Amino acid sequence: MAEHLLKILIVGDGNVGKSSFTHRYTSGQFNSSYKMTVGVDFSVKLLHWSEREKVRLQLWDIAGQERFISMTRIYYRGALGCVVMFDVTNSSSFLNCLHWKRDLDSKAMLPSGEPVPCILLANKCDLPGRVVSAESVDGFSRAHGFITWMETSVKENRNVQEAMRRLVQDILSAQ
Ligand code: GDP
Repeated sequence: MAEHLLKILIVGDGNVGKSSFTHRYTSGQFNSSYKMTVGVDFSVKLLHWSEREKVRLQLWDIAGQERFISMTRIYYRGALGCVVMFDVTNSSSFLNCLHWKRDLDSKAMLPSGEPVPCILLANKCDLPGRVVSAESVDGFSRAHGFITWMETSVKENRNVQEAMRRLVQDILSAQ
């Protein structure tokens, strides 16, 4: 039985739903959660990926430390995948995804030198006050090298498992 250990980052502006996403994804399964003193929330999820493969995910949630620049290099080190999240009712959280993607690409890369696979998540799609269109997200995702993008609602449990499955698939095929 092969076991992969994958460090995955969850980044994005404050209040877009990152902690809720991590909690939603990991709860109900075996997981342990551990609050580090620097404020990074580190959760673990074990996936029985196939008959021959287990995947142990380490999910690093930036946990309210979005402006705490000095810890970012430690945070990014060894990352094999990334979720960039924004809130569809908050246009600045969408615009800031460019910052998050560039920051990631400037501080982390795969051992092969390729960029870290990154999925773009348009969260809170259950809310009525949407200000970011699907067309603009699609264009942005293609222009900036995301593997794909998906609409999610952590609240209604829409696309949470699907998004992580897609990201893990990409990470494993990049290895
Ligand atoms: P973080 O700062 O990015 O970690 O964001 P949180 O996970 O703390 O979420 C911020 C707020 O948005 C909380 O009140 C959540 O309950 C709420 N929230 C998170 N995801 C969703 C969602 O998909 N839909 C709605 N309506 N609210 C959400």
